[in-house]
Amino acid sequence: MSRTVYVNGEYLPEEDAKISIFDRGFLMADGVYEVTSVLEGKLVDYEGHKVRLARSLSELDMAMPATEDEILEIHRELVRLNDVVEGGVYLQITRGAPADRDFAFPDPDVTPSSLVMFTQSKPGLAATPSEGIKVISIPDVRWGRRDIKTVQLLYPSMGKMMAKAAGAADAWMVEDGLVTEGTSNNAYIVKGRKIITRELSNDILSGITRAAVLRFAKEAQMEVEERGFSIEEAQDADEAFVTSATTFVLPVVSIDDAQIGDGKPGEVALRLREIYLEESLKAGI
Ligand code: PMP
Repeated sequence: MSRTVYVNGEYLPEEDAKISIFDRGFLMADGVYEVTSVLEGKLVDYEGHKVRLARSLSELDMAMPATEDEILEIHRELVRLNDVVEGGVYLQITRGAPADRDFAFPDPDVTPSSLVMFTQSKPGLAATPSEGIKVISIPDVRWGRRDIKTVQLLYPSMGKMMAKAAGAADAWMVEDGLVTEGTSNNAYIVKGRKIITRELSNDILSGITRAAVLRFAKEAQMEVEERGFSIEEAQDADEAFVTSATTFVLPVVSIDDAQIGDGKPGEVALRLREIYLEESLKAGI
């Protein structure tokens, strides 16, 4: 069944939605995005995504093409029109379509930003995973502003393909001997009962799920340490897991073919997943 999507002011069947070939998102990956999960038909952690979107735009001097209220309303309308119960809403803003290709940014008064949004239905999204995932390590060769959520996702896509070729589900990227993050998630290990994850900087995306999970962990009196760790330290940890808006908290059971703990989803990871889902459902809008 065809989805109804949103493009620059219009709700359209997906096959009728069009973007110019001069759109800078298409030509230059000059765009930012957000993915907000939907559970029980409600938006999860929306506030966090809204704030990060505004920051990504401001770091790139890109104009917001609609008001905050309008953007929230489009999220809700798309969820309603497409009957999304479990899934997500994808939002992308690019620097629009100037009259011709040019490296220089167009004048925002002449070339407005483009706004595209669509839903993805994923029934069973919140089910407890019976197995954890395997990850491999790869060098992190991305640009230096990974804190901005841009649509430059070629290397993360290549990373997922390298993982697939190795029989794994994802790749953890490594820079100067320390794990930065997963291709589309933040990375964690658990040692003793301590949760360890890399500190925020321009080297990683400040995950909205990361912020919530660390807050819930602290509220549940779990110890949290924000620092980098190596693949060797991770392989030797009791547990490992990743977080993202689309996977919540997902256990990792092997890194570069070395089994983590007993090779089953860890207790801390599963507990955090449970708390995250419970609290997110309560706070969903
Ligand atoms: N790091 C990267 C590189 C990502 O692409 C994502 C997901 N977009 C995350 C971390 C997790 O962020 P969030 O919890 O906001 O989905």
